[in-house]
Amino acid sequence: MIEVLDSIPVELDAESLMKACRIQPMSDDADAFQSLIDKALAIARPKAVYREAFIEDRSENTVVVDGVTFTSSVLARNLANVERVFAFVATCGNEMDQANLPSDDFLAEYWWDQIKAAALGCASRYLSEHLKGRFRVDKTAQMHPGSGDAEVWPIQQQKELFSLLGDVRGLIGVELTDSFLMVPNKSVSGIVFATERDFHSCQLCHRENCPNRTAPFEEKLWSEMSGKPVKLAGHA
Ligand code: SF4
Repeated sequence: MIEVLDSIPVELDAESLMKACRIQPMSDDADAFQSLIDKALAIARPKAVYREAFIEDRSENTVVVDGVTFTSSVLARNLANVERVFAFVATCGNEMDQANLPSDDFLAEYWWDQIKAAALGCASRYLSEHLKGRFRVDKTAQMHPGSGDAEVWPIQQQKELFSLLGDVRGLIGVELTDSFLMVPNKSVSGIVFATERDFHSCQLCHRENCPNRTAPFEEKLWSEMSGKPVKLAGHA
């Protein structure tokens, strides 16, 4: 059954967001940033849609989830001992894309993007707590099409993931473009699964200097999960 979460509280930590944006407290920039925070608190409606789904078949490189086939040896290995997963899309909400920002103010646009990311964080955390509370899953990990090296779980499989969730655009306003990106840009899609061990796609990503990295690259894990010899950094 597809479930929508659309009453997600928006909690924005203005101080840490300003720090991340390198804005001096008590400055003109701080005032301008605070007015964007106030705007976000007034209009942001982060949301999520998810579906409890079951694995029907699997091979070394594929997993069939409620009739939809995903092709990824890493996904197949991560789900080797799992029968149930949660397919999801979470978003900052398209209301934030309709905000009137000061025209041609690139800094304000950048700040707004950071605030959108924080609103997405509210949706992601809320979804995670909801799944833990409702389904009694304790420790979980996630995989996202397009995260990590390109071959880990190809971004093209956003199409299959969205097909599990029905009318995602109608339900929570997230659109999938022809290049498999999501609009609003601060949206995340993936599969949540119960696991005893930590897993982050960043562990399987060669990209250097990524500001969003949550875990260091792990050569051994990359080789183990992909079934390929270790690649040299910087080589796609
Ligand atoms: S290192 Fe960056 S690009 Fe690579 S998976 Fe992590 S967040 Fe994505």
